Amino acid sequence: MNGHRVVVIGGGFGGLQTVRALRGAPVEVTLVDRQNFHLFQPLAYQVATGALSAAEVASPLRAVFKRQRNVEVVLAEAVGVDIDKREVQLGVLPTGEEGRTLPYDTLVAATGSRYSYFGHDDWRPFAPELKSLAGALDIRDRILGAFEAAEVEPDAQRRSAWLTFVVVGAGPTGVEMAGQIAELARDTVRRDFRAADTRQARVLLVETADRVLTGFTPSLSRRAYKALESLGVTPLLGRTVVAVGPESVSIADADETVDEVPARTAVWAAGVTTTGFAGRLAAATGAATDRAGRVTVDPQLTLPGHPEVFALGDMIRIGDTALPGLAPVAMQQGRFVGRVIRDRLAGRTPPTAFHYHDKGNLATIGRSRAVAEIGPLRISGFPAWALWLGVHIVYLIGFQNRLLVLLRWSFSFLTHGRGARLITAPTQTHQSVAQPPP
Ligand SMILES: Cc1cc2nc3c(=O)[nH]c(=O)nc-3n(C[C@H](O)[C@H](O)[C@H](O)COP(=O)(O)OP(=O)(O)OC[C@H]3O[C@@H](n4cnc5c(N)ncnc54)[C@H](O)[C@@H]3O)c2cc1C
Repeated sequence: MNGHRVVVIGGGFGGLQTVRALRGAPVEVTLVDRQNFHLFQPLAYQVATGALSAAEVASPLRAVFKRQRNVEVVLAEAVGVDIDKREVQLGVLPTGEEGRTLPYDTLVAATGSRYSYFGHDDWRPFAPELKSLAGALDIRDRILGAFEAAEVEPDAQRRSAWLTFVVVGAGPTGVEMAGQIAELARDTVRRDFRAADTRQARVLLVETADRVLTGFTPSLSRRAYKALESLGVTPLLGRTVVAVGPESVSIADADETVDEVPARTAVWAAGVTTTGFAGRLAAATGAATDRAGRVTVDPQLTLPGHPEVFALGDMIRIGDTALPGLAPVAMQQGRFVGRVIRDRLAGRTPPTAFHYHDKGNLATIGRSRAVAEIGPLRISGFPAWALWLGVHIVYLIGFQNRLLVLLRWSFSFLTHGRGARLITAPTQTHQSVAQPPP
């Protein structure tokens, strides 16, 4: 086939939809991702708390595209781009080969984002982030390992530190994580241990703002706050984490009084920044970036002066506007870019500007507890939770995963169980040094 060559970097929410939108188009698509699967990030926290297993929230990219004949998948990291030669530079290939380049006629960058430690990458080993599957599995090991440590710890103070969990950031991910850890401790595992009383676990949710879920209206934030409290979470609002170590987390209040809380497990869910490729693309094209590293694109989602280069999803802002870092934004942008490419090749006039269609916002807190904002509608409690379950089942990639997750959730709902409570790391080392993702 000698079609128009489209290289898509990133098989996340945005990249996946771009490639799907090019099904049957006269193009040769190469999808490059540094991992061989699409991760359904909204359910990563369920892996981190043993509710779902890794394979249920991730789909191998080759399987996703096995029937789309104009797509090939390359497992590699894109490390640079030569805009004049129209080539993407790849990192180490599975063979060990380095320095391979991929020529393109159209480039689509959809490399997403990661959490930012506000310049304190030294905290990362003690407070892993939930952005990747490896991160979710690491957090699962740490949480379950902490219960195991509490079981064999004879000293009451040290046991209490093992049973103290600090979640940093009360956005949807932090709220979900804190709620799930509390449920795990107070409900799921409470009869599994003999010496440790896991119901004594403290789950602290630290947030600099004065309310949880700042992306929602204040009334839903209040309802989420109450739901968290009823689960046994202690939200600490107007507080900032100022240090994270292997055995404690230091938390400052508005007066800058610092409380050093003995805690052996912390999870990071605050602040967002782009991945390394966004910066390289901006440098190569001269595009501006904002404080979070987002690349500024034109309304048609192209890089200024480079109509052949698109960027989308978490890694961009459109002019001065940064849309929320949500899966539907990236998915709609992916479909939009696919359509622009098709129209251009067919000689039709493509749409000139992307417009986001906001279908609403959902966050779950725990069993039967969630909040939803859909246009003027504000829903909380069981109806919002049922809606949350339905939406996530519908949007999961792959029929098999949808079925498995539905079965798993139904079973867990009836039994209060969590089937994936496995510690897979050889030893539990809370001091293990996690490498920052590029
Ligand atoms: C824990 C968590 C929970 C979330 N929950 C929700 C939710 O409930 N609802 C919601 O709407 N949104 C949620 N989000 C946000 C949502 O997941 C993102 O907005 C969405 O994933 C952005 O899509 P994207 O395509 O821009 O990037 P991503 O989906 O992150 O995909 C980026 C892809 O690029 C790949 N990649 C990165 N750099 C390179 C490189 N240099 N070379 C090759 N490949 C590369 C990555 O491996 C990845 O596959 C959540 C995010 C997180 C982290």
